[in-house]
Amino acid sequence: MRAISILIVDDRPENLLALEQVLETPTLNVVRANSGHEALERTLDHEFALILLDVQMPIMDGYETAALLRGNKKTKNIPIIFVTAATKEQSQVFLGYGSGAVDYLFKPLEPDVLKSKVTIFLELYRQRRLLEEKTRELDAKILELETLKLALEDSNEKLRQLSSLDGLTDLPNRRFFDETIAREWQRGIRRQKPLSLILADIDHFKAFNDAYGHVVGDDCLKRVAKGLEKSILRDVDTIARYGGEEFAAILPETDEAGGVKIIQRMLKSIEALKIDHIASPTADHVTVSFGLSTMLPISDLGPTQLIESADKALYLAKNSGRNTYAIS
Ligand code: GH3
Ligand code: MG
Ligand code: MG
Repeated sequence: MRAISILIVDDRPENLLALEQVLETPTLNVVRANSGHEALERTLDHEFALILLDVQMPIMDGYETAALLRGNKKTKNIPIIFVTAATKEQSQVFLGYGSGAVDYLFKPLEPDVLKSKVTIFLELYRQRRLLEEKTRELDAKILELETLKLALEDSNEKLRQLSSLDGLTDLPNRRFFDETIAREWQRGIRRQKPLSLILADIDHFKAFNDAYGHVVGDDCLKRVAKGLEKSILRDVDTIARYGGEEFAAILPETDEAGGVKIIQRMLKSIEALKIDHIASPTADHVTVSFGLSTMLPISDLGPTQLIESADKALYLAKNSGRNTYAIS
């Protein structure tokens, strides 16, 4: 623990010596000054817990010294005990308080009174220092916690993104699809705008896997996902991996004609991929079938009806030769 310093100020050396003898303890650093000027000087390079200040001194008396100490930012909070030979006359006491005194001791000094007063002030000082230290520690902790909180928010956001993305294709996953279509259905009700849904399913994909193996099958899924994603242009549209080899596009504020346009782009984009498929009865390359449904959302129905309807359309497309689309 750092030694605590106390400043004793008196113009008479014998008084300083007497004070020092009473106060001397191993943990207390007693610094002397024999004038007001010297007292001010000492405060420049020392931090004091308490100042014992003689009132009657030549040139600059105790009150003037105290006033100067109060006027300085560094020293204005140091408690001062005035040491005075004067009688306890009220006006004298008030003069002291006016310049910031906190206490008085009267000469001749009684060692016990001096000790107990000084002890109280030193204890207050120790407590204040402890509080300051704890406050600094708390501030550091708060800063650390705030940094941790930011890191946590960041990793939560990453986690959220990860959990709404499909690991294979990087498209939004089924969970994200379910949330989005529910939200868009509600928005469609509020805005009274049509909502279109496209379901897409790779043709003869089981045969593709059988012919080329699962790894090539996965690669095919990724390329088809990219091809479909490329075909939707608006930010508000969502294309998700709906199931194994099925994809779904949610198209807010899009009518049936708009949905058909997008399917036609998708058909072209899949055609352009030219992924060989020797086992397909439909074509020599991978093809996709599409089902489209468009509804004006109303509160009596829910997105499930829209999904069922698009699924029905997909079934129709499969039955009418695949590599095409149907509307329901
Ligand atoms: P259809 O033209 O009627 O859609 O026939 P299909 O063979 O595509 O349909 P089916 O539902 O019979 O088979 C789907 C296949 O998709 C079966 C499964 O092995 C494959 N599949 C589903 N998910 C994945 C995947 O993540 N990776 C791979 N490689 N294959 C998958
Ligand atoms: Mg399927
Ligand atoms: Mg299929």
